Amino acid sequence: MNAYTLIDGKAAAARVLVQVRKDVDSLREQDIQPALAVILVGCDPASQVYVRNKILRAEEVGIRSVEHRLSPDTSTAQLLNLIATLNADRSINGILLQLPLPAHMDELRALEAIAPDKDVDGFHSQNVGGLSQGRTVLAPCTPSGCLYLLEQTCGDLRGKHAVVIGRSNIVGKPMAALLLKADCSVTVLHSRSRDAQALCRQADIVIAAVGRPRLINASWLKPGAVVIDVGINRIDDAGRSRLVGDVDFDSALPHVAAITPVPGGVGPMTIAFLMKNTVTAALAQHQAQRSQSEAPCHSIY
Ligand code: NAD
Repeated sequence: MNAYTLIDGKAAAARVLVQVRKDVDSLREQDIQPALAVILVGCDPASQVYVRNKILRAEEVGIRSVEHRLSPDTSTAQLLNLIATLNADRSINGILLQLPLPAHMDELRALEAIAPDKDVDGFHSQNVGGLSQGRTVLAPCTPSGCLYLLEQTCGDLRGKHAVVIGRSNIVGKPMAALLLKADCSVTVLHSRSRDAQALCRQADIVIAAVGRPRLINASWLKPGAVVIDVGINRIDDAGRSRLVGDVDFDSALPHVAAITPVPGGVGPMTIAFLMKNTVTAALAQHQAQRSQSEAPCHSIY
């Protein structure tokens, strides 16, 4: 078997969070307390766990968190009212709307209602558009975490051929935009792609964000590829429930230079980048307020 690197997402996330903690401390010294509002509509058990983990992590790094739990029969109008209140609240820097929303709600409208400078998930069209233009914006947390792992593993990404498998708005598309910004040559594969395996075999870097357990095996990989497995799939393994990625880890190992495990790879990075985005948003809002208050008053007379 070739020597390979196991990319440790837990350790990488811990490093990101140490820096976030330092940034929070330095903001607090300037009397700025970063704060994140988390909105959870309904009682989906998985969403409840995600929200609890986000709030715990925020507390650990000194970010104030405010939780808004809404009943499953909340109307879109009621949710929009809450978002408008949070947008106007200067003590709140980031707004996270936990997805998915109940089926009767207008998810896109709710995401679009979040002020772009408080959109710590990076899903507002203004941030999506800015990212696709290569601007520095609040970018989605999971692909930002993947990019961090790649930069730590590969160093300079310029000119590398990256294949992103999956084209969702949450992972695949923003991942492709971030890799383009990092000067990779990017191919995006999806459920309608022809010859997906052959295209993937040309990649120096593979990011799998499909949601199909162990779809990507050795036959998809060029020897020496670096593989980031975003997939989180719960399977029944001889009567025991466990999590596996989109990559068949055991089959891939002999072929790769580096790979993320599932769990313990990309997962921890998502929350770490949510915290990072909250601090970035707090700093940007403070700077914008300061430059507004320092701007000279122009009289029209
Ligand atoms: P999605 O269902 O929205 O998108 C899946 C994509 O895979 C689609 O674009 C589809 O075209 C593509 N696809 C489906 N079958 C394919 C095939 N045979 N070949 C090539 N492409 C195919 O999923 P998503 O929200 O992007 O999530 C993908 C996976 O990542 C899921 O397992 C999800 O749980 C996981 N995820 C993990 C994190 C994390 O923090 N680690 C965050 C978000 C999503």
